[in-house]
This record gives sequence, structure tokens and C-alpha cells, in this order.
Amino acid sequence: MLDPKLLDILACPRCKGAVEPAADHSSLTCEVCGLRYRVEDGIPIMLVDEAEALVAGADDGSGEDDTNA
Ligand SMILES: [Zn+2]
Repeated sequence: MLDPKLLDILACPRCKGAVEPAADHSSLTCEVCGLRYRVEDGIPIMLVDEAEALVAGADDGSGEDDTNA
């Protein structure tokens, strides 16, 4: 569970806008940029490079690509 005070100060690193936590607080979404930032062990990873793009009309999140070698 994320600290509400933390959520209050968190902002999208790209647009500096507010991010919406998922119902289970496993991720934070910026609807403006269409980016989803994951939360690891309660720590939001607020990096554009690490964010997952939410592409409407394309692959609906089913393709978990693992590019780690
Ligand atoms: Zn944004």
C-alpha cells in the first residue's frame, strides 16, 4: 500500500502531472502521457524509461516483453 502523502507529491516525470494509482497500488498511471509506472516493494519507479506505454487499440497489455538478457 502506498502512502497517501507520497501519492500526493508524486508526479509524472514527463508532464509533471498527477498520476493515478491502480486499485491494488501495483502501478501508477499518467493518463496524459499514457504511461504506467510500476511500483516495486512499495517504491514507485517514476522513470519514463521504465514506464510501460499504454497504447490504445494496440496490444492490450498481454505482451509482456522481457528484454533483459
Ligand atoms: Zn505524464
